[in-house]
Amino acid sequence: MHNANAAGPGRPWRITDVHIHIQPLGMLKAPVRETFRARMGDQWERLTQLSDDPAALLDIMNADGVARVGLVTDVSPNVMGLTDEANDFTIHYAQAAPGRLLPFGGVDPVTTPDARRALDRLIDLGIRMLKIHPPHMRCAANAYTEGLDALAVLYRRCEEVGMPVMIHTGTSIFPGARSKYGNPMEIDDVAIDFPDLQIVMAHGGRPLYTEEAFFILRRHQRVWLDLSGIPPRRIPEYFPRLEEIAPKVLWGTDWPSPGVASMRPNIEQFLALPLSEETKRATMETNPERLLP
Ligand SMILES: [Zn+2]
Repeated sequence: MHNANAAGPGRPWRITDVHIHIQPLGMLKAPVRETFRARMGDQWERLTQLSDDPAALLDIMNADGVARVGLVTDVSPNVMGLTDEANDFTIHYAQAAPGRLLPFGGVDPVTTPDARRALDRLIDLGIRMLKIHPPHMRCAANAYTEGLDALAVLYRRCEEVGMPVMIHTGTSIFPGARSKYGNPMEIDDVAIDFPDLQIVMAHGGRPLYTEEAFFILRRHQRVWLDLSGIPPRRIPEYFPRLEEIAPKVLWGTDWPSPGVASMRPNIEQFLALPLSEETKRATMETNPERLLP
């Protein structure tokens, strides 16, 4: 394993990347798959192999110096095409290395007949986090304030059992996505109404809503920032005061996705930023270990 600590000696950090996507590509809707394939270019073949073979992913993690990854499942039958079956794919995939591959599940509050039951099934199967993707589910993160009761059911249950919820913020390029639901301000309601819920704000509202994101992160103690999807070089521009929220920042890449070719270059770019050693280590190692022991 690489020594993540670019400064020199000492044991390598146990890096957790809280946000990667290994998906059942065949389940994606055709227009989504075509967009994805076109944007991934000659890496598409490799991606197909990875989806079939957790050992190949573990090889990449070893080579890239990544100890653990969060396998994010974006269930959204209406936009991406992934149904509850995608959860079974992720959970099965993660069984290849339970301590290193952390399955995150999804429940679509808009189309699922019994959200509570669907979530309890996933909890029993061992998911470590619930993913809510407002632009792909086509509902705001606080849509329970306007009648989408299933969303409140999900948040309440996660709060009860101590399971974090990851909420996508920022835009999405996939056909059918409604990026207006990517505004992190809607997390304000969620954090107020579910005060014990741990909320992971994916992507920090990039690229349009990073000021709103920072406000929410400072205002609410249990809202964490997942840096995935932000080109690491641009972190100082989007979050010039990142050090102020250092105990709540989580490392993530969103690999493999358009623009993110592999995990290691992002790690190197992050380590090269003018941030304190403590912030870098907290982000990559100790914060994710606190949230996901
Ligand atoms: Zn993602």
